[in-house]
Amino acid sequence: MSKTPRKAGAKESADLIIVNAEELLTLAGAPGKPRIGKEMRELGIIRDGAVAIREGRIVGVGKTKDITRAFRAGYLVSAQGKTVLPGFVDPHTHLVFAGSREDEFEMRVEGTSYMEIMGSGGGILKTVRETRRTRVERLVELGLERLDAMLVHGTTTVEAKSGYGLTTVDELKILEAVRRLNQLHSVNVVSTLMGANAVPPECRGNPNEFVELILSEMIPKVAEKGLAEFCDVFCERGAFTLEQAKHVLMRGKAAGLEPKVHADQLSMFGGAEIAADVGAVSAEHLLFSSVEGVKALAQKGVIAVLLPAAAFSLMIGRYADARLMIDSGVPVALGTGFDASCWVENQQLVIAMACHSMRMTPAEAITAATVNAAYAVNRGEEVGTLEVGKRADVLVLNAPNHSFLGYRFGVNLVDKVIKNGRLVVDREKQDVPIFMSKTE
Ligand SMILES: [Zn+2]
Repeated sequence: MSKTPRKAGAKESADLIIVNAEELLTLAGAPGKPRIGKEMRELGIIRDGAVAIREGRIVGVGKTKDITRAFRAGYLVSAQGKTVLPGFVDPHTHLVFAGSREDEFEMRVEGTSYMEIMGSGGGILKTVRETRRTRVERLVELGLERLDAMLVHGTTTVEAKSGYGLTTVDELKILEAVRRLNQLHSVNVVSTLMGANAVPPECRGNPNEFVELILSEMIPKVAEKGLAEFCDVFCERGAFTLEQAKHVLMRGKAAGLEPKVHADQLSMFGGAEIAADVGAVSAEHLLFSSVEGVKALAQKGVIAVLLPAAAFSLMIGRYADARLMIDSGVPVALGTGFDASCWVENQQLVIAMACHSMRMTPAEAITAATVNAAYAVNRGEEVGTLEVGKRADVLVLNAPNHSFLGYRFGVNLVDKVIKNGRLVVDREKQDVPIFMSKTE
């Protein structure tokens, strides 16, 4: 039997091709690991670039002339004058909660600290009360609205932590909402159990009793139902000690939940060291981490998930030392830190904050919000770069080059979002605002 040779000039079929990108940021690089040091500045830029997509996957990436020669597509998207890049991955949110805390925001503006508010029954505990009395269906509705806002701003994969239930039943309810959101919305939602987000009022004065509940009940039930991939702990004075955190993280690990740590957010507490010690996938926040803690992260390859918008919302004028981390070889990722106290769905704004407040270059910040963020949620093999075989989660930005991310901020630069190979956001097609068409 002889194979039929492909006719010279025969083109492969594609569903959709994006062509003529002013800059196409592939972020292609060594597979299998997040970017560190100088690698974070390498965006793999192709000028006049094109991406061919078939059945939700990327099948070709290169110069427009080469891609259009190799593929024919039913649908062409022009990216003339625009920048094309992978969809953002947001590796740290508390997506599912009820209520809001704008009253406490006003108190914080007036100078009351986050921990003072929490100490008087507010903060996380207020959101816990409201989330406990909200049904799962309503939590799903609220989550869908937030995912819409994230998608319109270019986020195509998001991590969601629980932690506003603090009883087994309520934590399971939140994780059930996360599971449904992942099924219902085109954004992919990655689930994290964070029962150890705060000590609930019923265990006040006896946090070990609550830790025991997490160890003996929450972790086994969540693992048994397959409701989370990660387990996270808020390591801080007034929340959980290093010893308690280690117990929770090791028990989670034994049950198949990979460790993540809320580390050194409000004080130099040793959270970075614990994250390295337990072999965590990521340590998050890191505003007050010690030089030794940063070295430990680099040594163990723990990803630093930095949240400049969360630091901004704390109003203490302090940010994580991203330069020290990058220069020490820590893989740095960026997330929104979206929650009831830091209500921000927009990774473009986070990139701008990373550049302005932490002196990350636009290229480093883009790497941190795409490929490194994907590795922080164990999706580095699937998304985060534009390479053949990866899932076709692609953004077209109204920006002539990548530096506009960071440089131009406070507006939405997204022109189009392609999710799983489908055009799901097209802002070019939206109605022209009425004042634009008004004539004298
Ligand atoms: Zn958090």
